[in-house]
Amino acid sequence: MTYSKQLSYAGRLQVINAVLFSIHSFWGAVFILPQSILKEVDQICRAYLWGSSAENKKVALVAWDTVCFPKRQGGLNIKGCINWNKASVGHLLWQIIVNKEALWVKWVHGIYMKTDSIWNHKPPTDSSWYWRKITALREEMQSWEDYLHMRESVDDTECCLCAEKVMETTVHLFEKCKWISTV
Ligand SMILES: [Zn+2]
Repeated sequence: MTYSKQLSYAGRLQVINAVLFSIHSFWGAVFILPQSILKEVDQICRAYLWGSSAENKKVALVAWDTVCFPKRQGGLNIKGCINWNKASVGHLLWQIIVNKEALWVKWVHGIYMKTDSIWNHKPPTDSSWYWRKITALREEMQSWEDYLHMRESVDDTECCLCAEKVMETTVHLFEKCKWISTV
């Protein structure tokens, strides 16, 4: 971090992407990380991007959410920790739905879900922190779906992945989509 003054924005962006990439691929893919840690890593990256240090605070020129957008949407394509972790947890959810043969998925079905489907399962109050995190994301995803439905005004909806003429509901995307089942 002490070299930040000698590096340009482009150089600092490279450093951030390299650091985030190793966090995401090593920790993010295996563990669900606590929100406070994700927030702190994002904050350190944000301060570093704008050249801020403890003794020399700099104002961020663009919001963090915006720099995390893909380049074609005006961002810098930084994969911020909070969103990356949501994607990783979403991947675990997806595995619970489609990958019934994996040992940990069998365990989850046997211990927690029993005969429930993932969409109507209520996590027991004494279930593990991990399980509560996974089910909390499921609830958040359902609220995204409500939001999509609210905004939906056209009749000929189609799935952007399989091009079938269906609404992109969580059930379609997770279970029915032909494109997803080929991944
Ligand atoms: Zn589809």
